[in-house]
Amino acid sequence: DSFQDVEMGEIIMGNIALTRYTRPTPVQKYAIPIIKNKRDLMACAQTGSGKTAAFLLPVLSQIYTEGPGEALAAQKSGGQDNGKYGRRKQYPLSLVLAPTRELALQIYEEARKFAYRSRVRPCVVYGGADIGQQIRDLERGCHLLVATPGRLVDMMERGKIGLDYCNYVLYCLALHYLTPSLFLSYLVLDEADRMLDMGFEPQIRRIVEQDTMPPKGIRQTMMFSATFPKEIQILARDFLEEYIFLAV
Ligand code: AMP
Repeated sequence: DSFQDVEMGEIIMGNIALTRYTRPTPVQKYAIPIIKNKRDLMACAQTGSGKTAAFLLPVLSQIYTEGPGEALAAQKSGGQDNGKYGRRKQYPLSLVLAPTRELALQIYEEARKFAYRSRVRPCVVYGGADIGQQIRDLERGCHLLVATPGRLVDMMERGKIGLDYCNYVLYCLALHYLTPSLFLSYLVLDEADRMLDMGFEPQIRRIVEQDTMPPKGIRQTMMFSATFPKEIQILARDFLEEYIFLAV
């Protein structure tokens, strides 16, 4: 019943201590080991349950430990190349989709706290705000992207974000296997039921089902939802690979 039960690396453990979280909430206690064991997850958890840290902590610690303190410092994100407009395109290692600007910002703020001093760089993009400023922030590097679905589709169309798998494997070879995870490896859908209620299913499917997306089983996918109606079950069936179901 302690954060020490799972190995998450010194820096992340230090950051947990800074947030003054003393013990894991139930969803954290059960979800963190499942995610660390590289299993896909469908978790039914309410807002306020601590679900944000339940996915951020294991994902950040995996990006940090796999993606190599040293190598990570050298690479601004999973990778980058020149986008359509000649500026750098970012390939995040981890993507978190959220229904609203408020939730996206909340997740981002929590990610910043946990990633402090780790060299893992979180970014956030959401609709209804100046896109130019968000693009400039992305260009400084992005390992973990928190996004609302509509704005992410926009960023992909502008050539600012790539979630490519195939391209990336070639890039990976070119880098002489510098690091094992260079393409999008972790996908989180937070408050999936709210995203569907808000009509984001087409954008979500557009993002997750594009042919350059790492297939399920290669990427690790986690879905969080307060409820588990038919539409969420269908999404879970389509996006998750032999997943563990957790209800807290
Ligand atoms: P969430 O359900 O992720 O939106 O979290 C709800 C609130 O609980 C947030 O304000 C978190 O900062 C806080 N919180 C999350 N995990 C813990 C924990 N283990 N101990 C104390 N507070 C927590």
